[in-house]
Amino acid sequence: PIRQRLLVVANRLPVSAVRKDKDSWLLEINAGGLVSALLGVKDFEARWIGWAGVNVPDEVGQKALTKALAEKRCIPVFLDEEIVHQYYNGYCNNILWPLFHYLGLPQEDRLATTRSFQSQFAAYKKANQMFADVVNKHYVEGDVVWCHDYHLMFLPKCLKERNSKMKVGWFLHTPFPSSEIHKTLPSRSELLNAVIAADLVGFHTYDYARHFVSACTRILGIEATPEGVEDQGRLTRVAAFPIGIDSERFIRALGVPQVQKHMKELKERFDGRKVMLGVDRLDMIKGIPQKLLAFEKFLEEKPSWHDKVVLLQIAVPTRTDVPEYQKLSSQVHEIVGRINGRFGTLTAVPIHHLDRSLDFQALCALYAVTDVALVTSLRDGMNLVSYEFVACQDSKKGVLILSEFAGAAQSLGAGAILVNPWNVTEVAAAIEQALIMPAEEREKRHQHNFEHVSSHTAQQWAEFFVSELNDTVIEAQERI
Ligand code: UDP
Repeated sequence: PIRQRLLVVANRLPVSAVRKDKDSWLLEINAGGLVSALLGVKDFEARWIGWAGVNVPDEVGQKALTKALAEKRCIPVFLDEEIVHQYYNGYCNNILWPLFHYLGLPQEDRLATTRSFQSQFAAYKKANQMFADVVNKHYVEGDVVWCHDYHLMFLPKCLKERNSKMKVGWFLHTPFPSSEIHKTLPSRSELLNAVIAADLVGFHTYDYARHFVSACTRILGIEATPEGVEDQGRLTRVAAFPIGIDSERFIRALGVPQVQKHMKELKERFDGRKVMLGVDRLDMIKGIPQKLLAFEKFLEEKPSWHDKVVLLQIAVPTRTDVPEYQKLSSQVHEIVGRINGRFGTLTAVPIHHLDRSLDFQALCALYAVTDVALVTSLRDGMNLVSYEFVACQDSKKGVLILSEFAGAAQSLGAGAILVNPWNVTEVAAAIEQALIMPAEEREKRHQHNFEHVSSHTAQQWAEFFVSELNDTVIEAQERI
């Protein structure tokens, strides 16, 4: 049978490209969440459309990169430096990202951002049109077009304007905030109108979907229906599609000799101590300072634990050229230094803080030897780290402390200890509760989460979204 073609459009292609020569490129696939989700989908023939993350001003380079990417089923969108600056760094990362995570702009940036808003929004629309042009060039009738994330909220409108028959879905990987927050965006209506041009609009949680629907009814004045929103007889379906992970990939990794060797080393290294783990991009939304302060409070209040527990914090560098992120990094280093100075001994420190990423195998080993994972996001679309931890814990049955502001709290809430990351006293108490939790309770909680993680895979998520998109379009045609 001929498989349906799926065009996945996202800001970044799932590859990193390094230029070797005038006309040759080295490509490496980044196996992030979305990539492994779609690699697993066998029902569709997926192609990726997106920016390769590099500036390629010359035609020879563009041609060579296009050719190299084609082998990986990737199609590049070329964005010049000025557009990237205004659209990606500006509108996406400086305006939409903080807004969707309920983070205010830093005081000193507020007026500057207000001033540059219009030009950044213009660049955003222009960039979205450039993505649309590439989609149109490669689109074949019957294809499904799946647009991803806050970078491409204009894309559904650009695509539908040209071809109203195209099957277009849009999925948001971040939270969608309360309509009271969305209302503050100068481009609030244009963005919502552009998104509802899609046939199907998806979110990680029911709450985000509900926020989106109420933003549409309150800001655009259109009708909410049980299915989604309706604008002059045209329905846009809005629904929750919680993403998952490829849990088998993690479980398989734990059997690999290299990973087992790594686990053994870690166990020996931290023998006699409980291991607590944090794995986050070093982003404001992850609540890393809050996590450290809670750990500090715990050590303050429970001196008997001083040499019996260690917190390993992997802080993956991200957006390192942005001053706000540099400030966060120094703040975190300062707190880590203080805590290690206060509670360290000549031979051991309570916190091991790493400013770098780990490879997949090292990460799996770390997940597997952990006693307590600590996720304290202030807001987080889903948080896959919590899922990955659960997948790797089937022998250890460790405890997950999880922020109620992560999307994952909706699905792993029954097995995790849910906390408000802003409440340092509560998190400190949760740390103690997790460390002394009886095996029986740990097992019960773990089982709950493990069943969820292994039965809600990334592959099913992708299949479900695309089949709902197909159905939505058929139902719409039947209504006419
Ligand atoms: N991750 C990684 N290397 C690391 C640390 C984390 O590849 O050293 C991955 C991790 O496995 C997870 C992702 O980064 O799949 C983080 O996803 P999450 O949803 O938790 O947060 P995001 O970074 O998307 O906000």
